[in-house]
Amino acid sequence: MAAVKGKGSNQPASSWLGKIRGSATEARERFLADGQQRAKANEGASVILDPRDLSGEYDAGRLLYTTLGGELRPITADDLAAFRQNIKTAGSRFKGGGIKARQVLDLSLPIDLKRAREQIKYATPAGFSKGTLRLITNASGETPGITRHHLMVRFPLFDVAVNDASKTTKQAAAWLVKQPLHYDCDCGRHRFWYRYIATIGGFNAGRPETGYPKIRNPGLHGVGCKHALRAMSEVESSASIKNVLERAITAARNKDVKRKDIQIRQDEAEANIKRAGKIKTSEDRKSENTKRRERDAARRAAKQAEKQAVQPAAATPAQNFEALAASMGLTSAQIAALRAAGGI
Ligand SMILES: [Zn+2]
Repeated sequence: MAAVKGKGSNQPASSWLGKIRGSATEARERFLADGQQRAKANEGASVILDPRDLSGEYDAGRLLYTTLGGELRPITADDLAAFRQNIKTAGSRFKGGGIKARQVLDLSLPIDLKRAREQIKYATPAGFSKGTLRLITNASGETPGITRHHLMVRFPLFDVAVNDASKTTKQAAAWLVKQPLHYDCDCGRHRFWYRYIATIGGFNAGRPETGYPKIRNPGLHGVGCKHALRAMSEVESSASIKNVLERAITAARNKDVKRKDIQIRQDEAEANIKRAGKIKTSEDRKSENTKRRERDAARRAAKQAEKQAVQPAAATPAQNFEALAASMGLTSAQIAALRAAGGI
């Protein structure tokens, strides 16, 4: 399949970022608008398939549709049974209590990873408050007027990191980014495909979604939108995120109320977005390690061969004699005489 490049991939590094000041309000407004639209969808002749429907109270007269099996068609009792099974399967994939950043990368669909790698190249922390990190990524440019997305990443073990006296603040931050977390993204993919999975999987950081994604994602496949994948990759490896967590942990340990909420400055954010790294799954890391080991082994073998090639072959007795004679300053006549006498 030919690579489809997002419009966003050719943007200069920071043209999408906009102002950091006011970004928290924008994020809040977007999540609020999402919640209000969702509440509206629940009114009257709702098309939401909720837990009551799934448990057997579904009235076929409502004529809700699904795309399970590939085509848009009315939901049957068999579909409801399939949905219940899908919920069970998805539930067993996640342990509840959060999901690790690496797991989000590993359990995601190849299409989301591809989009994240090609289109969502930048992310920066924007703030931290009460155990929740706010992140901003660039948007792919597919939605007019939207140049950035907001993500909330909650660390439920933040207080543990604060209170673990055996760790320095730096160690505590490095530990925290490897622990289970909860997240939420303001994009449509998260809203219609994944927020339900995040809810039943126990790693949703925003409003819970209880309506089964019967049209967009009836098989409950995947887990993270492209923004979440970029965000998780950064949580795992970015120095700027560890730095924010370290500052927050330090403030909490020092009971420094003035610094417990962190606002990232515009210049800090602009410096951060130039540094987004390659998004790697565990599989990518494994194959990179194998390749590195093979490369190292080949390099060692080549060095060894080179060493053997330059080492002179063992000297013959005649050569040893010549060398000894030369070091003694003998003339060639004397050497010839000695050689005749010694039979060398
Ligand atoms: Zn998203």
